[in-house]
Amino acid sequence: MGKKILIIEDEAKIMRTVRLYLEQAGYEVVWASDGTQGLAAFRHEKPALMILDLNLPGDLDGLDVCRAIRRDSNVPIIMLTARTEETDRLIGLELGADDYITKPFSPREVVARVRAVLRRTEQSDTVPEIVTTSDIQADLQRRTVTVAGVSVELTANEFDLLITMMRYPGRVYSRAQLLEATQGASYEGYERTIDQHVKNLRQKIEPDTRDPRYILTVRSIGYKFTEG
Ligand code: CA
Repeated sequence: MGKKILIIEDEAKIMRTVRLYLEQAGYEVVWASDGTQGLAAFRHEKPALMILDLNLPGDLDGLDVCRAIRRDSNVPIIMLTARTEETDRLIGLELGADDYITKPFSPREVVARVRAVLRRTEQSDTVPEIVTTSDIQADLQRRTVTVAGVSVELTANEFDLLITMMRYPGRVYSRAQLLEATQGASYEGYERTIDQHVKNLRQKIEPDTRDPRYILTVRSIGYKFTEG
């Protein structure tokens, strides 16, 4: 059996189709039809990836489930959404989803996205000492960074900020999440201080701060490290 995928989806027809295609692609599939069952399944099945419907019946919708899981897990999450509004998409990503698929979709597309997200997140998980993304290389032990082979001096905050985003290229982080990553979970700081850190960081690593190549701004949400 291949990697275990948890699907949380209340529409039986969609769930069955996605499950069938994923099983044909060699994955083991478990599923739940609401948020409460889904969270329970997540805890005891320990899936390698989750496919999570945004609009679920019952007490917990997809966003609640995503938020609950992200409190203590980095499991890759692909959101399914019937809503096409940009804001919903961004809310999902802000809460830490790795990708999203808008309904209606082809099951083949789901399989392709699952593969892509697993590949992306596995790379970031299997290199704990040195993280390399784009032209940037960070040594976690020595806390040193080089950009295109040239070493740059970062403050502790700038280093933590960069590493947080570099580990998951393309994942959108809100200012609150970045603040938590750099200052610790209990820190009650000003989210705007993140903007200042990002500004300083860009001055040190970006060839052109007016047209950032590595750390991209996600309007009204926060920042992400480039995927390309
Ligand atoms: Ca639904």
